[in-house]
Amino acid sequence: MKSNQFADIAFPTAVRRVFTYEVPAELNLQPGMRVWVPLRSEFAIGMAVRIHDQKPDFKTKPIRRVLDDEPVMNDIMMKLTEWIHRFYYCSWGEAIQAALPVGLNFSSEKRLQVVKGIDAALSHQEKEMLDDIESASMTLKEAQKRWREGADKKRLKKILKEGFVEIWEEPRQNVNYKKVKHWQLSESVNPSVILNELTESDRNKKWVQAFAELAEMELPVTHQTLLKGKLFTSYTLNRVEEEGWIESVDLPVKGLEADNGLHQPELIKTLSDQQQTAFEEIRESLDKKEFKSFLLFGVTGSGKTEVYIHALKHALEQGRGGLVLVPEIALTPQTVQRFYQIFGDQIAVLHSRMSERERFEAWQHLKSGERRIAIGPRSAVFAPVQDVGLIVVDEEHDTSYKQYDPSPRYNARDVAIMRSYMENAVTVLGSATPGMVSVQAVKDEKHSLLHLSLRPTGTMPTVQILNMLEYKSAMKGPLTIELFNEVKGALNRKEQVILLFNRRGFASYLQCENCGHIPQSPESSTSLTYHKKKNILLCHYSGYSRRADSKCEMCQSTNLKTKGSGTQQVEEEIIELFPDARVLRMDRDTTSGKHGHQKIYDQFLSGGADILIGTQIVAKGLNFPNVTVVGVINADTELAFPSFRSGERMFQLLSQVAGRAGRAEKPGKVFVQTWKPDHPAIKHARTHDFKSFSRAELADREMLQFPPFSRMIVFQFKCNYEGKVQRVAEAFCEALRAELGVNGVSGPSPSVIEWMNGQYQWEANIKLNKAYRATAIEDLLNRVFDRFDTSKPKGASAVRINVDVDAVE
Ligand code: ADP
Ligand code: ZN
Repeated sequence: MKSNQFADIAFPTAVRRVFTYEVPAELNLQPGMRVWVPLRSEFAIGMAVRIHDQKPDFKTKPIRRVLDDEPVMNDIMMKLTEWIHRFYYCSWGEAIQAALPVGLNFSSEKRLQVVKGIDAALSHQEKEMLDDIESASMTLKEAQKRWREGADKKRLKKILKEGFVEIWEEPRQNVNYKKVKHWQLSESVNPSVILNELTESDRNKKWVQAFAELAEMELPVTHQTLLKGKLFTSYTLNRVEEEGWIESVDLPVKGLEADNGLHQPELIKTLSDQQQTAFEEIRESLDKKEFKSFLLFGVTGSGKTEVYIHALKHALEQGRGGLVLVPEIALTPQTVQRFYQIFGDQIAVLHSRMSERERFEAWQHLKSGERRIAIGPRSAVFAPVQDVGLIVVDEEHDTSYKQYDPSPRYNARDVAIMRSYMENAVTVLGSATPGMVSVQAVKDEKHSLLHLSLRPTGTMPTVQILNMLEYKSAMKGPLTIELFNEVKGALNRKEQVILLFNRRGFASYLQCENCGHIPQSPESSTSLTYHKKKNILLCHYSGYSRRADSKCEMCQSTNLKTKGSGTQQVEEEIIELFPDARVLRMDRDTTSGKHGHQKIYDQFLSGGADILIGTQIVAKGLNFPNVTVVGVINADTELAFPSFRSGERMFQLLSQVAGRAGRAEKPGKVFVQTWKPDHPAIKHARTHDFKSFSRAELADREMLQFPPFSRMIVFQFKCNYEGKVQRVAEAFCEALRAELGVNGVSGPSPSVIEWMNGQYQWEANIKLNKAYRATAIEDLLNRVFDRFDTSKPKGASAVRINVDVDAVE
């Protein structure tokens, strides 16, 4: 009997178990390959995660087809996704789904396939239908569309039901290279011969000159690129084609290099002494080829990026590859350009606004080893870089590394560390304001600390706190008189200003001056924000919007007033205050579209505006040498958010935004307007004193046993019936308490957003000893769910329970 005749298959559903199938002898199956198997009454795509010879005690079904010739995931990625499956308590298939691009994951298309020979019993029309299906390799959707009416519809149903045609679920493959028009010389055309034979007057013709220039170029070139040149127009090109000298071909376009700047590896910088010391420690670990993790703590502008670049270069010299994670690629065009400058085509850029095809392409370049460095946000941690030597996590504290929805709710920083461990690679976590988790990990000797305390160019900006209490009667619009004067001064000196306004549309709402009513979102328990330009009310949680009311819903009064201010309103007030200044706004509204952010960024950098107003996103990773004044208009909104991390967030936000000033020769000043000048986050941010801040913050956390002194797991319960959510949440907490004791569990209680998209939301959380590892978490949660299953209330299946390990709210 053949061994290895069974395979465990993972599916991208919430069910956490894998399913065992039989492997027919003729199939060549390895772990990491996708298969096509019967599942319940249908077929589905799954991933073979284990192949073995342990016969289960139920009757197994055979695998129908293997979809890949070679594994789409290697052993390490299989192990890494398995770890995610246990640690973040999702299904293995969900973790695999997150790690693979469309085209290689589980997304599929239902196709029809004729399986029985033509039967004499079939009618003429039915035979025709079978013929059509066979010759057109139709999807189920196409067939249903084509035969959607009357007798046709019945016929299709019949041949499906009687098994003449079967529904196959095939991997979706609309990710082929996109082809565009290129020009090349026609075969056996010799341009110099042609040009020599022309008369003088012919040679003066524009289209002949265009040909002469083409003859000098490296062909083929895309039509679009040529149109940028003066001589080339559709007319001149078509005219040359008419002569038969050139021809057009449709070829795949390669790469996104165009936006990445120039490849000039000779411009790599010589490291400063501090940078060199940090680099040498990393190099030493790289040379040992063993796992090690570093926290590179360096003030903003201290040259962390240069250290990453040197370390990556070393990894490449060792013949290994690297990963660079950045918070959000659209927000860090400069960072990408700096890596591109040194590494050129060795880099594959992955970003959230790429098309499926572009992503698939980048993935293939890495998997084939053609490119050896991946740079991208969260999901780039799964990039199939070959032989990883180094993983960099820039701005390691950034909350965008945590995925919230859908499952897996992973933190890319922690996955990066685990992947490094599995690859015998080195992780470098970099930040000017590391998260408390990483700071504590240094204390626990899990990470080694590398410190950059100096800026190679420029100085640290001064930070001045403006107590709003003292300026109540000295305001110019949203600015204290002090900040107003500073902005004016900068404008007079032809310098640039950044004004940070925390949160898009925050607190801009309509209020009735008669009865005080504020319009509420019908889809979440929050106020609607008012967007003046479009005159709409918008719910930022559910996306609900409607035309702004002209009468109060409650008392019918027409006396409605706009209250608070959003970025738009601040923009208008600033324009009024500085009528001669050119003002730009950067927030989620103005940066939609593929290059929205880049455009605003380029415009401001090139001096196309004097004042940039924005939300948090202006604080991220940008570098504007001419900015000398940065104002934080409303520092307190972050502190108002109900989370034990709000102090940490506040400190990070202030430090990052302060880091935007004074990066070049000109000194920078930062002004923070606040009602709470004595808050530790604000006090210590003023003196750039991260150490004092983190000491105070960690002491508080330890006292309350908050992370990093515990591991927090948040459970969220969702359902469209309030009563059910509450009953299930309570029953679940009973199960938790039975396992963990009465004191280990908080909740349940309604979430901060109690109601969203028609769903009631409740929450509970537990704090585990931080020594809990993946298998311990899995065991515990398995026990809790088993217990809950035996005692769950009626209707519990209607309630969704999300598990969020190491939740970041
Ligand atoms: P960080 O990543 O720590 O915020 P950057 O790497 O962006 O800092 O460096 C800040 C500025 O200093 C950049 O303009 C960078 O080009 C410059 N810089 C960094 N290291 C050096 C160096 N060794 N020599 C010259 N300039 C440097
Ligand atoms: Zn009213």
